[in-house]
Amino acid sequence: SLSRLVEQLSLNRTILTDAYYDGHRRANATFVFLCRNSDIAGVVSSIQQMEDRFNRKHQYPWVLLNDEPFTDDFKKRVSALTDAPIHFGTIPKEHWVQPDWIDEKKAGAARKVMVWQRIIYGGSVPYRNMCRFNSGFFYRHELLLPYKYYWRVEPDVKFFCDIDYDPFLFMQDKNKTYALGFTITMEEFRETITTLWDTTKEFMVENPQYVAEDNALGFLSNDGGISYNLCHYWSNFEIADMDFWRGEAYSKYFDFLESKGGFYYERWGDAPVHSIAASLFLSKHQLHFFRDIGYRHEPFQHCPQGDDWSRGRCACNPDDNFDYTPASCIKNFDRIF
Ligand code: GDP
Ligand code: MN
Repeated sequence: SLSRLVEQLSLNRTILTDAYYDGHRRANATFVFLCRNSDIAGVVSSIQQMEDRFNRKHQYPWVLLNDEPFTDDFKKRVSALTDAPIHFGTIPKEHWVQPDWIDEKKAGAARKVMVWQRIIYGGSVPYRNMCRFNSGFFYRHELLLPYKYYWRVEPDVKFFCDIDYDPFLFMQDKNKTYALGFTITMEEFRETITTLWDTTKEFMVENPQYVAEDNALGFLSNDGGISYNLCHYWSNFEIADMDFWRGEAYSKYFDFLESKGGFYYERWGDAPVHSIAASLFLSKHQLHFFRDIGYRHEPFQHCPQGDDWSRGRCACNPDDNFDYTPASCIKNFDRIF
């Protein structure tokens, strides 16, 4: 029964929370990697770097998720990279496909307009499924239920530096909930989220109790909340506490967004959805920017500076750092503290 399952899972969680590996303390945490069989080369590259730069010493598990079953060849190539536990999961259809109640005529027309506007992934239904899954479903997958913290990894990203401490334990010990590797603003994506901010304001008016007192609204808006400045944390790098997504505020917020159909009638992304929620429903002190983690997702990179760079044996050029370019929102992030 469901209550037995929940009991079982929280039992597992206690065991995992107290887990030690090789004599050192470990958090209840996992890597999360959504990908397709065809992503194999990029998946191998990303996992190899994470293992060599960090996880070799920690053996945090990997959870790989796919909307189709992983092939044996895929599993074999990934399994060769690590001694840590690896779990391969298939996503249930109801967490992935466009729901029946979405008016496909309206959704199809919206996609067509975005193709004319040359908006990236504007005509893609699978991309919308992916954004919706990352916004509201991944943390409910049965393979992720036992865990609290996750680190999201994507194909073909780069981890430039040694990570000589445990970012999961950092999150836990410093009481952090959402951590980013990147901030970015992109004018191009305004058309993909036309009504997202107004929808969010509607939610806030109906549910003011969820808005944190010392929130990070100043990161999202330059005019006290009237308009959204398009700044977001780039969600291809995230270390966060899934209990936040599973909690009341975010669950209600996601259900509200879902009810508006904007994941399909527009092209709402998990990056703005996560960024808005983390910035409004959390205290700004629960956010953290990992400045010391060198990271690249095409076409941008964050390269650590100064001592962080040399200590981490970073394989990036410190002068090639997105933080100093106009499209970075790090100024907005810094100014809220
Ligand atoms: P971008 O970073 O916004 O350009 O989008 P990506 O193509 O990198 O997709 C984001 C993540 O979702 C990556 O980890 C992809 O492997 C994964 N992804 C995207 N589309 C699909 C899909 O249709 N099926 C599966 N299983 N994964 C997908
Ligand atoms: Mn990507």
